[in-house]
Amino acid sequence: MSSKSPAKSSPGSQAGAPTPHQTFLPRADEAARRKHRNLLTHASTRDFTAAHVSNMTEDACYWRFVEMRFGSRTQVTCPDCGAIDKHYYRSDRCQWRCKDCHHTFSITSGTVLHSRKLPFKLILLAIAFFVSGAKGVAGLHTHRLLNVQAKTAFLLNQKIREAISLIRELPPLQGVIELDGGHFGGRPRSGRVRRRPGKDKQVAERIQSQMAAQNAGKPIPKAKPSKANIERLKKRRIVFVLRQHAGLHGLGAVTTRVFVLQAESAAEVRAPIMRSVEPGSTIMSDENAAYTWLSQHFDHHVVNHQLEYSSAAGVNENQAESFFSRLRRYVLGIGHKFEPQYILDYAVEMAWREDCRRQTEGTKTDALTRGLLSSHTSKWRGYFQGRIPSSRTDSVAQG
Ligand SMILES: [Zn+2]
Repeated sequence: MSSKSPAKSSPGSQAGAPTPHQTFLPRADEAARRKHRNLLTHASTRDFTAAHVSNMTEDACYWRFVEMRFGSRTQVTCPDCGAIDKHYYRSDRCQWRCKDCHHTFSITSGTVLHSRKLPFKLILLAIAFFVSGAKGVAGLHTHRLLNVQAKTAFLLNQKIREAISLIRELPPLQGVIELDGGHFGGRPRSGRVRRRPGKDKQVAERIQSQMAAQNAGKPIPKAKPSKANIERLKKRRIVFVLRQHAGLHGLGAVTTRVFVLQAESAAEVRAPIMRSVEPGSTIMSDENAAYTWLSQHFDHHVVNHQLEYSSAAGVNENQAESFFSRLRRYVLGIGHKFEPQYILDYAVEMAWREDCRRQTEGTKTDALTRGLLSSHTSKWRGYFQGRIPSSRTDSVAQG
């Protein structure tokens, strides 16, 4: 579990004990660590931002989309028959007519942006704005920035999240991997109220029945969860994360996989792990009973969170906690709540932000633009006509 409050210092991290991470990862040299640290503020990362978009014309934005989709302004691919040619172009309609099959198509035909009505400049601005947010972007923020309806802004952001899931490559994880589950969605449990037996009849009766059971040698009855808490837990889900280390200590994790599960149990976590991790890899987890079977297939190491964040041998799951921290900050500061069927979309977004944190703004903007222009029927298609996207399967949904 991700919530814990163990002692800050590890009992094993005294003089003479091995340096944390020594067992698992060689330490990156100081120059590499400094370069890694300073990259975020380096001028080279600002190669394409919202400021650049604001200086572009609608025409320039349109042709940027054309180049992103077809790789050329003249040689374009027919989405119907696949012919690559200098097809007939009607500049008044911004449409091509295929020389082979006579199919008429536009830059957004058959893509996530199919039937878009917004100008390309606003879409590009929304992408650049989405990319620059460290903890994500709120729909209401985009709605004010672009001067569009809140529903339009929400839909555009959701389509950008959909584009992320289309461009993410999911090779099997190998090397050193951390995994953990965190609780997301729903409302927090109500706090426990301390009741005094002398004043509260119910508490006094429960204590009496517990003492009677204890005296009779019977199992002590447990208090049942309240109805209010059961309702709250209905929308609660486990975001399960697997993160592969960069290979050198000090450079963080490089690849992240996320799943949405109903519970952090052995039955639920088995399929995502077996599907995503190469056999024989090293896995670090906490002491949760859901992970005891891992040693049959992997080199499994456990950190006891009751005692320490990181063991003397360097076993920890700080990278998994780092991911949860980013996702929680999104909930606390920007999104405020998740509906269960969309938790995966936000988890995938944060996994992408973590994995691409060292890429330049331009690289990320181009990648998302290509994702929005990939041949894919959007699950959000028809949203304005009242069609709500069918809820994704919660169990073992992967991003
Ligand atoms: Zn064609």
